[in-house]
Amino acid sequence: MKWGIVGWAGALILSSANAAQAMTDEAFSQCRERFAQQAEQEDLTSESVRNALAGLQWSERVIELDRRQPEFTTPFSDYLGRRVTDQRVEDGRRLLRENRDLLRKVERQYGVPAPYLVAFWGLETNFGRFFGKMSVLDSLATLACDERRSTYFTRELMAALKIIEEGAINPPQMEGSWAGAMGHVQFMPSVFLRYAVDYDEDGKRDLWNSLPDAMASAANFLNHLGWDDEYRWGREVTLPENFPYLEAGLKNRKTLAEWQRQGVRQTSGAALPDADIEAALLIPSGHRGPAFLVYSNFRVIMGWNQSEYYAVAVGHLADRIAGAGQLHQAPPADSPRLNREQVMALQEALNDKGHDAGKVDGIWGPGTRAALSRFQDAQDMVADGFPDPKVLSALGITL
Ligand code: CA
Repeated sequence: MKWGIVGWAGALILSSANAAQAMTDEAFSQCRERFAQQAEQEDLTSESVRNALAGLQWSERVIELDRRQPEFTTPFSDYLGRRVTDQRVEDGRRLLRENRDLLRKVERQYGVPAPYLVAFWGLETNFGRFFGKMSVLDSLATLACDERRSTYFTRELMAALKIIEEGAINPPQMEGSWAGAMGHVQFMPSVFLRYAVDYDEDGKRDLWNSLPDAMASAANFLNHLGWDDEYRWGREVTLPENFPYLEAGLKNRKTLAEWQRQGVRQTSGAALPDADIEAALLIPSGHRGPAFLVYSNFRVIMGWNQSEYYAVAVGHLADRIAGAGQLHQAPPADSPRLNREQVMALQEALNDKGHDAGKVDGIWGPGTRAALSRFQDAQDMVADGFPDPKVLSALGITL
């Protein structure tokens, strides 16, 4: 009897797993049919494309990775510390030397300085050491078959099929991240189609095996995003006592002359450059951390990856590779990590007190930070939008 029950329960579990699998198979073959129709509408009819379509596989792993939520917020100190390491700076400097001729040529042609190109390369794949091992076609097909961002990923899948059709790479070698980013500089297929360059002129745009193609493609993309080679990405600065921290944030742009009048200086103590450009001030780890004035190229970097932390990391790594030292003001190492429940509680408390933090989603972003600054300001605290223990406890949140 006992065994009977276990057997019966086991069979139930097994059959429901089988049923789920059968449902997935059925749904995915319908998706594959839809992809084939769309490919045909887009004149993607070559044998290589037909074979690629026939070989598409659902990947449960991709769905898992896509639904994964970070458990804690990542403080800027951790983010930067993991990405701009002494080893990475050293590797970047060596690779800059070893590829000097190529990088100079690319720099002259596209107007993006070599240290930035090497910095992107370092951040995206640790200089070509890690491209991602997932099948790009399977990843894109899986995400395109999933309902949440089907339109976007269907478009990327079609772009990937065009890349197959042009013969840039064979489907089994088309490896990348679980979200479909590919090669040395992790281009999505649509970016590849628009901006990849066959710089070594071997007849293929190959971002996996050709460094000349990869570096020229990155530079071409940045050039199209509006890179201005007259200026830097921005720079670390120092702020005067009693600086009005409410003025920090990407949205508040002022001329360098205005920041200069407010007492903002280069870390050497020198005046800001006398240039007629606008800049925004960022303090990613609050008033105890570094401050950065960021120029228009910072927005270009965010056109590549829409994260302020990423853009600071690119700029700082590029500076280091070009010979600069560490930050003048290191980010405080004791920055709190908040879990989702704590961020949600923070957002709820800010909304309750009339400082609009937006949707209570547990995601720490610019809206939450700005609301926190306004709350701090109203409490006569330093309004830097940084979740230090003092302001958290004033909002009733315990760490
Ligand atoms: Ca090539």
